[in-house]
Amino acid sequence: MTIPTPDSKSFDTLALSAASRENLRRLGYIEMTAIQAASLPTALQGRDLIAQAKTGSGKTASFALPLLARLDVRRFAVQALVLCPTRELAEQVTTEIRRLARAEDNVKVVTLAGGVPLRGQTTSLEHGAHVAVGTPGRVLDHLERGHLVLDALATLVLDEADRMLDMGFFDDIAQVARQCPAVRQTLLFSATYPEGIARLARQFLRDQIG
Ligand code: ADP
Ligand code: MG
Repeated sequence: MTIPTPDSKSFDTLALSAASRENLRRLGYIEMTAIQAASLPTALQGRDLIAQAKTGSGKTASFALPLLARLDVRRFAVQALVLCPTRELAEQVTTEIRRLARAEDNVKVVTLAGGVPLRGQTTSLEHGAHVAVGTPGRVLDHLERGHLVLDALATLVLDEADRMLDMGFFDDIAQVARQCPAVRQTLLFSATYPEGIARLARQFLRDQIG
């Protein structure tokens, strides 16, 4: 009898629901990319993480699957926040999270980026969003106006952290992070690792490996 060797690149090795694994198959996600294989087991345990990998390596699923796994969809409160450098990237991340969330009923994802009026975003927040994806400036704006409340936040993601630093968002990120519960998961993704990233990590990550 031959015992199949476990394929460490298979999504089936992860602590994901059967529905989520079936959804991944439908999306054509057969094998994990290198960054997914390196980060998902740790991130799905709820640990903090810094992950560095170039563009196109599949970083979105590396944080989207863990944040979705932690959601309580019956609770209408923002439980995950993803900060991105630009509106375009925030919209791409929103689209990908929605695709990966199809296994779950009624996961609501809102984009909070500048360049469009606040009103539509405020209405979406009032109707109860589980996940917010946005740029630091617009997210702060909603926080200051009391439209966005982060008391129930479980996961904070800094995506494209190096670009956010290049764009001068350090203080905005710090201000947003200060309004998140101290006990949370923080995931930091970056294509490069300049000194500023280490500073971000020291300030906002607790038990990170990576
Ligand atoms: P990054 O954020 O690292 O630039 P993305 O998360 O945007 O990369 O992923 C790039 C593309 O690869 C997307 O179209 C995404 O749907 C696809 N992708 C990611 N992971 C996988 C996978 N394991 N299998 C197949 N396609 C994947
Ligand atoms: Mg990306």
